[in-house]
Amino acid sequence: MASPMHEVLNAIKGGSRFLVVSHANPDGDAIGAMAAMGHLLEALGKQAVLYDLTGLPEHLAWVKLPSPILTELPQEGFDWIVCLDCGDERRGGKELQTAMAARPTLVIDHHIANPMWGTHNWVEVDRSSTCEMVAALAQEMNVELSGALGEAAYLGIVTDTGNFAYDSTSPRCMEMAAHIVRLGLNPAKLNELIQNQWSLARFQLWGEVLGALGLHFGGQLGVIRMTSEQLNRLKAISADCEGLTNFVLHIKGCRAAMSLREDKPGMLKLSLRSVSGVDIQPVAAAFGGGGHKCAAGAGIEGDIEDVERRIIAALGEVLGV
Ligand code: 5GP
Ligand code: MN
Repeated sequence: MASPMHEVLNAIKGGSRFLVVSHANPDGDAIGAMAAMGHLLEALGKQAVLYDLTGLPEHLAWVKLPSPILTELPQEGFDWIVCLDCGDERRGGKELQTAMAARPTLVIDHHIANPMWGTHNWVEVDRSSTCEMVAALAQEMNVELSGALGEAAYLGIVTDTGNFAYDSTSPRCMEMAAHIVRLGLNPAKLNELIQNQWSLARFQLWGEVLGALGLHFGGQLGVIRMTSEQLNRLKAISADCEGLTNFVLHIKGCRAAMSLREDKPGMLKLSLRSVSGVDIQPVAAAFGGGGHKCAAGAGIEGDIEDVERRIIAALGEVLGV
């Protein structure tokens, strides 16, 4: 029997037109994987159309895409949907979820508890990133990881490992990155493109949010909030919050960090982060989300005070305090 990777590979070989998609509010791994998959398909002489509900974020506008990312879902003109980096089938939006239920879909992902809703599912939780998986697929298909394809794959590997620092870092992903660097990628230049993209609004938001940090359980849990009032007043967007929750873990003795972002009154986005050895994924899952052991999240409806209290209590259990 073919391995999950080879099932996906065979489906790609057999198809000619692909709709490549990822989750809403895409991060570096989502955009990197979409771009890398698009470049890979083109190198194989196939057609790729890219779609994402919320489109290409401003801070990733420099990524070399094979074609623009559409924000209107095409209904026709493809044999397969290739769904990348989506831990569950709702993360790409309702319309895409409906399309994926009705169409042949290839799921490539590295999240725990991926529900495997695709026709073929290649899910490996010990992969650093979906980008690492797309890069492995390119290697298996003898497509060189140079130029725009290599850059896109490298983007997700470095962002999902926090520059080779998180638990998700492995010899395998470092070797893949080294392979891409040997083919000509300049890590310093790419790092500048990835990191030096902050708007003043983002900088000011971080100052306010971190200044209002709350510590619990003797400093083992750090809690921050981004209210809709704050986001509107500073003209900050959801992408400006990326990395904020992680930052809280810099505090000595802090083992877990949580943030709630109020996208609209009553519509909350939870982010959880933890040091290695502390598994916060079940807490996100208990609130309808998911993710990884040390980085997980959920979309939650409710009052921010009430939700915050309940999650702090759940994190107390995980921390054993
Ligand atoms: P972040 O906190 O950066 O939004 O997400 C951290 C991790 O949790 C990511 O790997 C992401 O895929 C996962 N995650 C975030 N929000 C959700 C969600 O609503 N549902 C699921 N299943 N996973 C999520
Ligand atoms: Mn990812």
